[in-house]
Amino acid sequence: MLLKSLQSCQSFKLGPLPLTLDNVVDELQKCFGGYLYVVCLNVECGAVNRVPYGTTHHRDALF
Ligand SMILES: [Zn+2]
Repeated sequence: MLLKSLQSCQSFKLGPLPLTLDNVVDELQKCFGGYLYVVCLNVECGAVNRVPYGTTHHRDALF
């Protein structure tokens, strides 16, 4: 639902990072979206990627 746009791992660019909710280690929620912290599936990398979802760039709609 949230993860429509798959992203590549930001520190180990060997292809798209398969983002599944199983890999989400943390979540930072904002009003209309937020960030998911997703662990890279590559065992040699293991980096945590911050993936924005929702309309985080429309925060000014609040004010
Ligand atoms: Zn990685």
